[in-house]
Amino acid sequence: MYKVVVLGEPEQLVADCTAHLATAGHKALAATAHLATAGHKALAATADIVGGMRPDVLVVVGTHSRAAEAVRRSRSLEPDCQVVLVCPGDVDRWGLAQLGIHGVAERITELTAHVDAALRTRARLVHLDEQRRALLRIVDVAPRLSRVQPLEGYRAVLEEVIPLLGTGDRFVATHDRVLHAFDPSLEGVVVRAGTGRYAAAGGVTDLDAEARRAVERGFLSGEEPSREGRFVVIPIAARDGERGCLVIEAGAVSGELSTLCRIFGQQVGQALENLTLWERATTDSLTGLHNRAFGAQRLDEVRALDLRRARPTSVLIIDVDRFKQVNDEFGHAAGDATLRAIGNAVQRAARRSDVVARWGGEELLIVLPDTSTEMARLAAERVRSEVSMVTVTHGERVICVTVSIGTATAASGDRQAMEWVVAAADRALYAAKAAGRDRVCEADNG
Ligand code: GH3
Ligand code: MG
Ligand code: MG
Repeated sequence: MYKVVVLGEPEQLVADCTAHLATAGHKALAATAHLATAGHKALAATADIVGGMRPDVLVVVGTHSRAAEAVRRSRSLEPDCQVVLVCPGDVDRWGLAQLGIHGVAERITELTAHVDAALRTRARLVHLDEQRRALLRIVDVAPRLSRVQPLEGYRAVLEEVIPLLGTGDRFVATHDRVLHAFDPSLEGVVVRAGTGRYAAAGGVTDLDAEARRAVERGFLSGEEPSREGRFVVIPIAARDGERGCLVIEAGAVSGELSTLCRIFGQQVGQALENLTLWERATTDSLTGLHNRAFGAQRLDEVRALDLRRARPTSVLIIDVDRFKQVNDEFGHAAGDATLRAIGNAVQRAARRSDVVARWGGEELLIVLPDTSTEMARLAAERVRSEVSMVTVTHGERVICVTVSIGTATAASGDRQAMEWVVAAADRALYAAKAAGRDRVCEADNG
């Protein structure tokens, strides 16, 4: 609903203008102000009225020079508020244009047309301003999308951008990781593709490989998605070609929006490339766990956070028992497969907030945030038990392994560097080996 404020004098003319606009279906409010004889106080009062009412269109009624001055002085006007002047008699139109007054009605009957035009101009200005803001935000987001960072970093940026695309919160992408990046809570909406059409059904997990390919084909062949509810399909363009596409459930899609989406798609493509780089730099390629460098970084970060919150932090060092024998007996490839299976088992036994890293050849490290010595022991036993159930088949034979684990804990206020805590866990591991392997040992002084 638009608000039109009619301001000025004489009172009767203000009332007539207001009534005329109301008859034409506008929400018009009258405010009398003695603009013709106005001194500074009257002009300030005018500014107050306008500031309080925040009109979309201001109709100024009265002697032209004074009325124009009143408007000019109304700094409280919203920048996109349009001004229409009702001024019987001669008007300096050029001077008024300088003041940003575009509509001049010499008769009340002309007023409606001027107000309608002013409202259209205003709507256009507001729309342009929204577009400008969205573009600026996307430009602002670009460097953050270009950063090499883990998925969470992109997720935060993308959550900011999606509302800007004006498409609601339903966002489906064909790329696995992007899918989750865009809307992890997305339920009940999915894109199912068949001969280039998209249909909403089921849960997002229903987006199987075939559907994905069909969605991509739909995009690549430039087919217009057709079904009730519409989808915008944005290519995710990366240097090495298409990485799939993003599918947004959207209402009407303007040309400007699709340009915006396209730019955004390119940025997401770049983000995916960076994500790949990030993963390469932080992941151990054999086990898929964090590598040692990243594990060490996370160890310090976790400890810093726990220290600030006065919580203990525990670490486990896990070493595979007699792993050399596995290699000697079954070959290096079987050893690798066994290590991978052990990595998976350890990851399964860990909590989501734990950091699991490959620390050395057949040694893993787990960082347990906010975990006491007792809880660390329980976690270690869980890991030991999970690994003991791992079986890797090698021809007719089955490879079984056990692990020894050393645990150590930094107490809540303990400021010593984590490398000492890791060294203590290492000594505990050594004790576990000496005591016969397949067991958990705690560091002496916790
Ligand atoms: P324990 O720890 O119980 O004392 O005996 P171990 O046999 O595991 O100890 P050791 O440190 O002597 O041997 C570790 C072995 O792990 C030797 C090395 O070949 C093997 N290893 C380390 N990294 C890898 C890997 O990436 N793949 C394979 N297949 N083997 C590896
Ligand atoms: Mg070993
Ligand atoms: Mg070892």
